[in-house]
Amino acid sequence: TSIAAIGTLLILLHLLQSDLSETSTQERELRDGITGSQFELFYQPQHDGKGRLIGAEALVRWRHPERGLVAPGEFIPLAERTGLILPLGQSVLEQACRQLARWSREPGKAGWSLAVNVSALQMQQAGFVATVLGLIDYHGVVPGRLKLELTEGVLLQDFDQVSAKMHQLRSAGIAFALDDFGTGYSSLQYLRRLPLEQIKIDKSFVAELGRQDRDSAIVGTVLVLGRSLGLQVIAEGVENAEHWQLLSGLGCRLFQGYWFSVPMALPDFEAYAEAGRLP
Ligand code: C2E
Ligand code: CA
Ligand code: CA
Ligand code: CA
Repeated sequence: TSIAAIGTLLILLHLLQSDLSETSTQERELRDGITGSQFELFYQPQHDGKGRLIGAEALVRWRHPERGLVAPGEFIPLAERTGLILPLGQSVLEQACRQLARWSREPGKAGWSLAVNVSALQMQQAGFVATVLGLIDYHGVVPGRLKLELTEGVLLQDFDQVSAKMHQLRSAGIAFALDDFGTGYSSLQYLRRLPLEQIKIDKSFVAELGRQDRDSAIVGTVLVLGRSLGLQVIAEGVENAEHWQLLSGLGCRLFQGYWFSVPMALPDFEAYAEAGRLP
């Protein structure tokens, strides 16, 4: 039995080791990808109640030399664990500001807003406010066009510090959306105390609309709550006409989801906007 035990131990050690070296290989690849500018923004359209395109959410993609296009679920967690989310997030913000500045000079596009996901580590970074203000200034972005999306998880870190930074950025005109709303805790406190412009109803609630009575009650309540607090409410994960109809019936006026389009590379997004065709 002791030989079996030693054997098991050796296998475990081996697994642990290969796991560690695996991680560091991935980390190195991620780091090289960032310095090699392999990350680009995809754009998912956002529409108002009349079907007009009002802007997009920027969703990062890794254009990997061998693996092709890689979705964020495959690298954001590692980026968060290793701190590489800081240079990656910086690159995302830079690309977003550059794009917003380009659109501001093009007829029909100047009014678009662009929402960027910001992770907890970024928000905790000492120079974050200065970085964002520097970027919008350098690129000449109308601050109100840039929207930063935070999840409740970000707020759990150090509420007072995060809140102070949000207020600073908000006074410069930058907008905030609370992402994945309804999936975290203490949301009502946040809503009252933070300078938010928008809340995003998480797609898990939208997915159950028409199937679960409780979910339409939740969505309806969030819409009423948003209205009474003077906040925009956008539904994400709108996948079909039924979702759209039910949401409209509940008073929702802002939409994002596969029914309109999946996130697209820039040329496709601009072609989509040009075509102006809706489902
Ligand atoms: P998220 O911020 O909640 O973004 C929405 C996700 O839902 C996107 O996945 C989008 O493609 C997907 N989605 C859009 N419409 C639908 C729909 O109708 N149905 C369903 N089932 N899904 C829909 P994606 O692009 O894979 O991004 C996943 C997550 O990765 C994002 O979730 C966000 O948390 C994170 N992420 C993406 N880009 C960035 C970034 O630049 N920085 C940071 N920190 N996180 C990012
Ligand atoms: Ca988001
Ligand atoms: Ca979301
Ligand atoms: Ca999410």
